[in-house]
Amino acid sequence: HVAQPEWTEVERWLTRTVVKPGPEHERALETAEARGMPPIEVQPTSGKLLNLLVRISGAARVLEIGTLAGFSSIWMAQALPAGGHLDTLEYLPEHADVARQNLAAAGLAEKVTVHVGRALETLARLSGPYDLVFIDADKQNNSRYLEWAVRLGRPGTVVVLDNAVWEGTLLHPDGGDQDAPFIVESLELLGGPLFDATVVQTAGSKGWDGFALAVVR
Ligand code: SAM
Repeated sequence: HVAQPEWTEVERWLTRTVVKPGPEHERALETAEARGMPPIEVQPTSGKLLNLLVRISGAARVLEIGTLAGFSSIWMAQALPAGGHLDTLEYLPEHADVARQNLAAAGLAEKVTVHVGRALETLARLSGPYDLVFIDADKQNNSRYLEWAVRLGRPGTVVVLDNAVWEGTLLHPDGGDQDAPFIVESLELLGGPLFDATVVQTAGSKGWDGFALAVVR
C-alpha cells in the first residue's frame, strides 16, 4: 500500500499536535518492531478515535478481534471505566506474548484478557453482551466476525471494522487482491438490515483506506 508523502506528514503533525500518544503507545510500537512484527497496527489517529468511541458510547465491555502487539488494545483499554474489560483475540502466540507485555507495561494487564487461538473458535466460547466490537484480523472472516458482533452484542452495540476501503479495491473485487471480495461482502452485510453503518475514508501513513462504523440494530 502506497502512502503519498504529504499524507504521512499530515498524519505525523496531527499525531504530535492533537492526538498526543503517551510513552506506553510509543513503547508498544518499538517492541513490535524489535520483535520483527509487521507494522500493520492502526495509526495513532485511529487509535485515539477508538479511545474516544469507547468513551462516547460509555462502553464497559469491549471485544477486539486481531490484537497484534496490543497497540489498539492499549488505546481502547485506557478509555474503559472502572470495572470495564477488554477481551482481545489473537491467533499467533508470539503476537499475544508481545501484546501482554505491552499491556502490562501500560498498567492495563488487569483490564485486558488476550485470548490465543483462531478467533472463530474463541468467539464461540465468549458470552456477551459487548458494548463495542473492533474487527481488525483476517479479512476473509470479516462477515463471520460481523455476525458474531450481532450475536454477542445488543441493539446499539458499536462496531468498527478496519480496512474498509483498502486502496479502493472494492471497485474491482475480482482484480486479484485476495481480500477484496471479503471486504465487499462485509460492507454489503453492514449495508443490510442488521446494522446502521457508514464508512469513513482515510489517507495517511497506511495509504488510502478507511473504517466502517456501525451500530447493531
Ligand atoms: N488491531 C491491531 C492494532 O491496531 O494494533 C492490529 C491487528 S493486525 C492488523 C491483525 C492481527 O490479527 C494479527 O496479529 C494476526 O495474527 C491476527 N489474526 C489473523 N487471523 C486471525 C484469526 N483467525 N484469529 C485471530 N487473530 C487472527
